[in-house]
Amino acid sequence: MAFEGLSDKLGKVFSKLKNHGKLNEKDVKEAMREVKMALLEADVSFPVVKDFVAKVSERAVGSEVMNSLTPAQQVIDIVHDELIQLMGTDTARIDFPSKPPCVIMMCGLQGAGKTTHTAKLAKYLKKQNRRPLLVACDIYRPAAIDQLKVVGASVDAHVFEMGQTNPVKIAKESIKYAKDNGFDVVILDTAGRLHIDEDLMKELKDIKAEVQPNEILLVVDSMTGQDAVNVAKSFNDMLDITGVILTKLDGDTRGGAALSVLSVTGKPIKFAGVGEKTDDLEQFHPNRMADRILGMGDVLSLIEKAKINVDEKEQEKLAKRLQENKFDMNDLYAQFEQIEKMGSISSLIKMIPGVAGKVKEEDIDERRMYRTKAIISSMTKKEREKPSIIDAKRKRRIAAGSGTKVEDVNQLLKQFDGMQKMMKQMGLKGGKKRKFPKFP
Ligand code: GDP
Repeated sequence: MAFEGLSDKLGKVFSKLKNHGKLNEKDVKEAMREVKMALLEADVSFPVVKDFVAKVSERAVGSEVMNSLTPAQQVIDIVHDELIQLMGTDTARIDFPSKPPCVIMMCGLQGAGKTTHTAKLAKYLKKQNRRPLLVACDIYRPAAIDQLKVVGASVDAHVFEMGQTNPVKIAKESIKYAKDNGFDVVILDTAGRLHIDEDLMKELKDIKAEVQPNEILLVVDSMTGQDAVNVAKSFNDMLDITGVILTKLDGDTRGGAALSVLSVTGKPIKFAGVGEKTDDLEQFHPNRMADRILGMGDVLSLIEKAKINVDEKEQEKLAKRLQENKFDMNDLYAQFEQIEKMGSISSLIKMIPGVAGKVKEEDIDERRMYRTKAIISSMTKKEREKPSIIDAKRKRRIAAGSGTKVEDVNQLLKQFDGMQKMMKQMGLKGGKKRKFPKFP
């Protein structure tokens, strides 16, 4: 996950500062030198780092901080504040025109995640009750049209295509089609290249001139670090983009691009891609990102994720089954599915304040949940409803079916039994507080 190294290093700098009690100018200078190193190692571009550190230093050596009772905390607050400024004070949103359709032109280099994010964006907008139309403007790779059709179908969005005709014409026709058929957002999936070249830019400029999009969103791959920022600068110089979608922030990235894009291009990051699934798109909130970088967690995004992805009806059904002591392994399995929809456990854990920065990736055993799911999958419906019927023979079959050992099946059954007993007690004793067993 992005920012891990940076969070770690900044955490260390600040805990050192906290140990100082009162601060003098030398302490702050030393801390700022370390902040500078940490940012450079996170691949933040050099001029941005220089400027950032200068701003923080200027504010931090002021008498207000030096004389305060909690100088280290004040320095952290200043860093937090400047990080937000670096990424943009406000959350940048899509600019919807008063008269639909809103035309969004997606552009970027090949492999950055353009097609994937066209679909993610469609899904995101559908949740806001919009009707997006996806448009296949990448006519050079025959597979590109098919890819868009596949991802479009996966998010249940209509795809407009005209085969390998002139992309400017396709874009123009798609808008007419959208107006005639009641689509209020048109997302153009344009062609990418491995490198920026003149033909590509000319084509994009021609499309822009023809359809005058409301948004030109540049899709850049955060894994490419400073290159991502250079690409953003070139595209912006030529196309005057309106915002950036920074993809693959879930990968092993140092996060530098997120901190440099706005300073270098003057254009905000509007969305972040945080995984391969169509749900893995987040609106980019500079303040929440700063919280995450400083290990303060991001409860708001966690709540939003839960709201969007957890099926309320399912939860109501579950609550009823819990009250009636009917919770079985089918319900447990359904719970795992809901958790999975919210993203990887490690990404969720990082959003919890106090936990971010303290839990290491290697400490989270994501496989355990998958193993438990595999075991439950190998049970028959009857076995899930009434685990007590699972005898030695059935255990062997379940273990073989799930690629686990009989001990694993035993452990799950034991934990589930404990859980059921505890739920019964809670039901009988009117919700008396009891410690929940560790599960799965
Ligand atoms: P395009 O050539 O720009 O259209 O790129 P694609 O949409 O085909 O994406 C290229 C690859 O990156 C695919 O394998 C995607 O699954 C993957 N990808 C896209 N976005 C993300 C993301 O946010 N996180 C991760 N982990 N992978 C992504």
